[in-house]
Amino acid sequence: MAQYNKYFDNAATSYPKPPEVAQAIAHYLNEIGGTYGRSFYERSRLATAMVEETRELIAERICGSRRHADHVVFTSGATSALNLVLQGIRLKGDNVFISPLEHHAVMRTLTALSARVGCKINVLPAKSDGLIDLEKTATLDFSRTAMVIVSHQSNVNGVVQPVTALKEQIGEIPLLVDAAQTVGRPHLTVEAEMVDFITWTGHKALHGPSGVGGVFSGKLQLLEPMVFGGTGSNSESYAMPDESPERFEAGTPNLAGIVGLGAALRHPVASRHSREDYLRLLDELSAIKGLKLHRAADFAVQGDLFSFSCEGLDCGEVATHLYYQHGIETRVGLHCAAMAHRFLGTFPQGTIRIALSSFHTAEDLGFLAAAVRESVHDLLSR
Ligand code: PMP
Repeated sequence: MAQYNKYFDNAATSYPKPPEVAQAIAHYLNEIGGTYGRSFYERSRLATAMVEETRELIAERICGSRRHADHVVFTSGATSALNLVLQGIRLKGDNVFISPLEHHAVMRTLTALSARVGCKINVLPAKSDGLIDLEKTATLDFSRTAMVIVSHQSNVNGVVQPVTALKEQIGEIPLLVDAAQTVGRPHLTVEAEMVDFITWTGHKALHGPSGVGGVFSGKLQLLEPMVFGGTGSNSESYAMPDESPERFEAGTPNLAGIVGLGAALRHPVASRHSREDYLRLLDELSAIKGLKLHRAADFAVQGDLFSFSCEGLDCGEVATHLYYQHGIETRVGLHCAAMAHRFLGTFPQGTIRIALSSFHTAEDLGFLAAAVRESVHDLLSR
């Protein structure tokens, strides 16, 4: 019997990973084991070199050049990277603008900051799928705006935002792009030179382990550190070093995670399905009676995930049926993005999310379409 890849929760965390990732982690833990940037002996020198190589590889993946490795600050993931930028920029009573499809990593952080420092959260005008409406943003008053923050690809309906065109409109105002869902996807690269701060994570499209991510920025000097402690450098001083990235990397980093990410970056996975296969999946699902897709209106800006819901059926019921009858693993609910669901009209019931990985083949997508069709039919005819 054919074996299908039935894991469709890759927007939460990707599975599988290239086998080299676990091998590199085991090699580091079993054979290397030294710390980063603090000692002269061979183990520590090797570990330090592994971290610096990963820094170069992620810089190359994001901006095309290893020379910008000093733009990379490692954090424990996109959430801590977003906190570093949003808290480190020291917002005062200014405006911030956000897209209507932000994740809680942005919304909860900004909500806490607005209570603490009084910054005002404004939402950019958008089309009905949440795509920023550039004609309307062109006429907006961005005065007294400290930052514009945009989720590059919505983790609910997969809309990919026009961040470069937006940056052209906002000029000098710092743009923060939450690229948690896109860094690692070759067809969805952010134009790094147009974005002031890019936050990314290792455990989704990059196929690395969880617990490692970061900020990529040529403007780190605009940030204050949020975490203080030892860096193995300037140790005579009680102040954090002025140099980046160490200014923002207090404490021992996630060495095993960074090494695993390095292996993932050295072994990129070419997509085993095409955009045509993906479009066919969307077409097949949209033909199912009672099923509603939540996706980009224009396939040209559709990232590798989307959601669906079914008239008259509870999303949790459909997702559990898909799992227990067909082995399909999905994420159901609000996806830590209540704001996006409110905007899209799917709050509070949420949706069922399908997030593809480059490991999926056209056959896997065909299996998914058939399983959804059968599940919806079974549940509606009870
Ligand atoms: N932003 C978006 C758009 C996300 O989808 C996620 C992960 N769900 C995050 C931020 C947080 O990423 P991490 O798990 O690496 O902290």
